[in-house]
Amino acid sequence: MDIIVGKTAGFCFGVANAVNKTSKFLKENENTFCLGELVHNKQVINDLEEKGLKIVDNVEQAKQNVIIRAHGTTKQIYDKAIRMGLKVVDLTCPKVIRIHKIAEESARDGNYIFLIGNSSHPETIGTISYCGKNSCIIETEQDIKNAIQQLVKSKIKKVVILAQTTFSMEKFNKFVKIIQESIKDKDIELKTEMTICDATRLRQEETEKMSAIVDMMIIIGGKHSSNTSKLYEISEKNCKCSILIEEEKELNLQELKNYEKIGIMAGASTPNKTIKAVVEKLQKVC
Ligand code: SF4
Repeated sequence: MDIIVGKTAGFCFGVANAVNKTSKFLKENENTFCLGELVHNKQVINDLEEKGLKIVDNVEQAKQNVIIRAHGTTKQIYDKAIRMGLKVVDLTCPKVIRIHKIAEESARDGNYIFLIGNSSHPETIGTISYCGKNSCIIETEQDIKNAIQQLVKSKIKKVVILAQTTFSMEKFNKFVKIIQESIKDKDIELKTEMTICDATRLRQEETEKMSAIVDMMIIIGGKHSSNTSKLYEISEKNCKCSILIEEEKELNLQELKNYEKIGIMAGASTPNKTIKAVVEKLQKVC
């Protein structure tokens, strides 16, 4: 059996930065709270909780130190943490901070903002808070019609399109084309900012290529991780025998014996030790 492990599989820069800095902070500080899970990976969260991190759902539950996770939070929550006198450890990824800045500037310059992303994802909820009132989230093709109606109603003639950092490249390009087509006779200026991050793009491209040449694909990552789910969606299109697992325990060795070439990819919040454990288990049936 051939096992191919993706070169881009595993922690991206933003996740590695958030996890390392949190671990270091926990060594030196007590009473450290994180608003929601730091990253979307159960194993990473368990490790950090053992080191003392307390995960809370809202800022009112935090005391003394509060960590803002890699995919950021809303402007209102950030400001509230400061007003409460908490020490804010902002680990928002620079790629997400960049989107917040573009959103604020675009809103200030009088643009209407279309934010393409999953409406319930914390990053999207955070980013939309920087977009001002003339903005809307587009998650599905059906949302585009409503977004255009809102835009026309606002009488604003300039639109900026942004994307959640971990959104699917394929869907983003498709949605942009539909928006262009829908406003072409409306005298509206359209600017598209490519804000899907390189870490996401490279993992999606590698998954696309790898899934076309193997008999089976194993995608490793949190079941609630947006970027991992996108990798699985891409993989499944090319390779019918694609599975999404969080840990090596979920692998069925008997079934794996039927495959000659297995590809492994992992989301941006999957630690190396989880990838290694999967590879070691597969090697037992080689
Ligand atoms: S996926 Fe991209 S935006 Fe998100 S933490 Fe990683 S590098 Fe930053």
